[in-house]
Amino acid sequence: MNLWLETLDAPLQHRAGIIDDLDVDIAIVGGGFTGLWAAHFLRKEMPGANIVVLEKEFVGFGASGRNGGWASALYPVAFDRLVIEVGQERARNVREVWRRSVPELGAELAGLSIDAGFSYGGNITVARTQVQMKRVDAQFLAATHAGEGAVRLSKDQMQERINVKDAVGGLFIRECARIHPANAVRGLAHAVERAGVRIFEESEVLSLRPGTSSVAKKGIVKVRHRGTIRRVHATHIVEATEGFLPSINTPARSNRSVVPVYSLMTATEPLSPEIWKEIGWSGNETLAEASHLITYAQRTADNRIAIGGRGAPYFFNSKISPEQDRDPVVHGHLRELARSWFPLLRDVNFTHAWGGPLGISRDWHPTVSFDETSGYARAGGYVGDGVTSSYVAGRTLADLISGKESEFTHLPWVNHQSPQWEGEPVRWLAINAGLKVMTWADREERLTHRESLIARAMAPLLGH
Ligand SMILES: Cc1cc2nc3c(=O)[nH]c(=O)nc-3n(C[C@H](O)[C@H](O)[C@H](O)COP(=O)(O)OP(=O)(O)OC[C@H]3O[C@@H](n4cnc5c(N)ncnc54)[C@H](O)[C@@H]3O)c2cc1C
Repeated sequence: MNLWLETLDAPLQHRAGIIDDLDVDIAIVGGGFTGLWAAHFLRKEMPGANIVVLEKEFVGFGASGRNGGWASALYPVAFDRLVIEVGQERARNVREVWRRSVPELGAELAGLSIDAGFSYGGNITVARTQVQMKRVDAQFLAATHAGEGAVRLSKDQMQERINVKDAVGGLFIRECARIHPANAVRGLAHAVERAGVRIFEESEVLSLRPGTSSVAKKGIVKVRHRGTIRRVHATHIVEATEGFLPSINTPARSNRSVVPVYSLMTATEPLSPEIWKEIGWSGNETLAEASHLITYAQRTADNRIAIGGRGAPYFFNSKISPEQDRDPVVHGHLRELARSWFPLLRDVNFTHAWGGPLGISRDWHPTVSFDETSGYARAGGYVGDGVTSSYVAGRTLADLISGKESEFTHLPWVNHQSPQWEGEPVRWLAINAGLKVMTWADREERLTHRESLIARAMAPLLGH
């Protein structure tokens, strides 16, 4: 069960599905952060535009309603690599836009009267071994080089903030906030509706065909609601389905541009004040361990610990299904990890376990693309850093579609072409091998107390 959907401010009520053919200016496919931020900013840039959002299930059904609630300034491509690819100035600009976007996102939510528990407490990466501390030091140097206000934490400073067992130090980065993601995305849906955008739920897009300028033809989105097919004619079509992309017949899918990789989460019951007194964590920082396998956690607004991580297998042919949201082994590891951080959780119940797909492109670059001729736009591939990135994507999409030149339309992700993923079975073998390597590397480091040879050997192959 997904904690966020169970602890919504308002009960989950479904919207009506599409019952007519429509002719609109902008059709947005996907009711997650990307689709809704795009709708929000498009409404501002093009106040008269007729905008609809088509969502297969309900708003927040996807990763936006399931994630770890880190609104971070993370960008999936490392700063040094970005410098090589796009130059120092543009790379610095990316870092600057993402950093600034964290508080702006909070201000935007507040301006829309959305209470999503936004708490701008920063982020901590804890090191629990000397090998992890070396990685933290490397992260500190990289962050400083990229212009981030990173602070190295001694063992005592770390424990003073969050009392993680065996901590030897840590890294604090200012630009990260904690949110309740489902309250944020559901609140955003209400806000765009108030502004005149129509949202149809239980309306599955089966295929979309962008328009053509030669005969001034609009694009066509084929939508199914309860077995009946409807057609939406739209000047602009925005595809905002991120990890779900492979399930729709679209131009991007035929590109094999994004694969869905699962991230899973679990959460405790609300913890007692006595436990919190021992743990600390009064600053609401988001927390991760400097392990190879990605982990992430937050202290929730209702005083639980919600913790997540990668490691769930990639399914053959980019398959997505609800059964994949739960994996007893990965969920078990996450509970073990939480208890190893905080042994006081020994007798505490873990009440929720869930997960979902996020989108990864072959070169780990997120993309916002727009083709003026056909009116077709797409955004996604945030590699698990989608909360703030989808906000920036919404702004970028709005400026591109409305024809407004801005700093967003000059970001290097605009019309970035990632290489295609390999066909199967190579894709399945490579992605699952990569996930296994990270698990083995952490195990190896625990046993040898030395930097993982497996991770070092595989780094060039996994490179990102
Ligand atoms: C468990 C987990 C933890 C994460 N933690 C973090 C985190 O802490 N911080 C962070 O920055 N990022 C995190 N991410 C990533 C982040 O949540 C996503 O990148 C982001 O939410 C993507 O938003 P989106 O709107 O593009 O996609 P989604 O939120 O996935 O929305 C896509 C929507 O499209 C709909 N859809 C799919 N197919 C169709 C169709 N055929 N027709 C109509 N609609 C369709 C889906 O139902 C869905 O609602 C996490 C992801 C997961 C899964």
